[in-house]
Parts: sequence; structure tokens; C-alpha cells
Amino acid sequence: MKKGTLTIISGFSGAGKGTVMKALLAKYSDQYALSISATSRKPREGEMDGREYFFKTKEEFEELIAQGKLIEYAKYVDNYYGTPAEYVEEQRQAGKDMILEIEIQGALQVKEKYPEAMLIFLTPPSIPELKKRLIGRGTEEMSVIDARLKRAKEEARFMEQYDYIVVNDTVEECVERIHRLIQSQHDQVFYSLDLIEGMKKELEEME
Ligand code: 5GP
Repeated sequence: MKKGTLTIISGFSGAGKGTVMKALLAKYSDQYALSISATSRKPREGEMDGREYFFKTKEEFEELIAQGKLIEYAKYVDNYYGTPAEYVEEQRQAGKDMILEIEIQGALQVKEKYPEAMLIFLTPPSIPELKKRLIGRGTEEMSVIDARLKRAKEEARFMEQYDYIVVNDTVEECVERIHRLIQSQHDQVFYSLDLIEGMKKELEEME
């Protein structure tokens, strides 16, 4: 079986990553696995431990770092976020296309460790639209929204380091574009190294 691909989706807070990921996984449920991160942030209303995140105390999170259990981690607006390594590897070995929905510092760490990873940056159509979505969500206080908008400004500096930018106009369209991008990765040489080796061997044996 071919190894599953590795895709990172980042985007400003409020870009609609959560909604797009849910729709992608619902539509192509056999194909994809979404990594569940660990975080030291408090659960939002309706979030469940082990579903949206593994919620940890700051100390527990630091223990995960010390034990080398995370592929990457970062601090985002005063909280830790990180990707547990085991699940990602397991799912890829099982042929699933793995998606990490993580912020920029983490994304760049993953790219260093896994050069085959594809980095997609999801943006709302405009900045006023971003602010509208953040306020409309109604889950955060104004001070947190301001901190997240400030953070967006910092993140914008790294957008060029991504492989693809996808504008989130409508969820359906966005899902299809991301699906096509991910599926095209299967044709990367990285995923056919065994095939190449096999062919080389057969050709040599013909001589
Ligand atoms: P939120 O608090 O809105 O759920 O997430 C805040 C930010 O943390 C988002 O940009 C999200 O993509 C990012 N994030 C979530 N999980 C991880 C992770 O495991 N590692 C990193 N580096 N960022 C993460």
C-alpha cells in the first residue's frame, strides 16, 4: 500500500479552516484523517476532549515536549499547541491522507522534518470579511479577537512560504480545490520510490 500524503492547512484565525475541514472530511471520509492536536488552551463551548483537541494543562503539555512525543509545537496567543507524532505516522502507513490544521510556526517545522509535506494557506476573501467572521463567531471576547487580528498581521509575513493559497469564498468550492490539490500529491516522486526502485532493478536484470 502507498503511504498517505501529508498536508498542512493554515490560515488566519477566522478564515474558516474548521468549517472547511469538517466539510472535506464529511465528503471524503474514507480518504482523509485529521490530526487531533494537544493544546493548553481551555475548551470552548461544545468542544470535547479527544475530539477537537486533547486538552492539557501547561505542565502536561511541557511533559509531552520533554518526552519528544510531538512532531512540532508552537505558542499561539499565550497557549501551547502541538501535533502528537504517533497518530500521524500510523494513519499515513495505513494509506490515509493526513491533514494537520496548524499555525505557521508549526507548519514550517513540519516542512523541515517532512519535505514532502504540502503547505496550504487558507484566506478569507478580504480582511474586513475576516474581522466580520471573527466577531460573528461570538466565541471570543473583543480583546482576544484583537490579539488574533494582530497575530494575523505577523502571520501574513510568512504567507509566501506556503505552496498554495486558497481563498475561502464558498465552502463547497474550497473543499473541492483542496481535495484536488491533495490528490495530485500522490503523483509526487516521493510516493513512488518503491516503484522506481523496482523498475530500475528489472531493467538491470534485462541486460
Ligand atoms: P484555536 O484556538 O482557534 O483552536 O487555534 C488557534 C491556532 O492554533 C490556529 O491557527 C490553529 O491552526 C493552530 N493550531 C491548532 N493545533 C495546532 C498544533 O498542533 N500545532 C500548531 N503549531 N498549531 C496548531
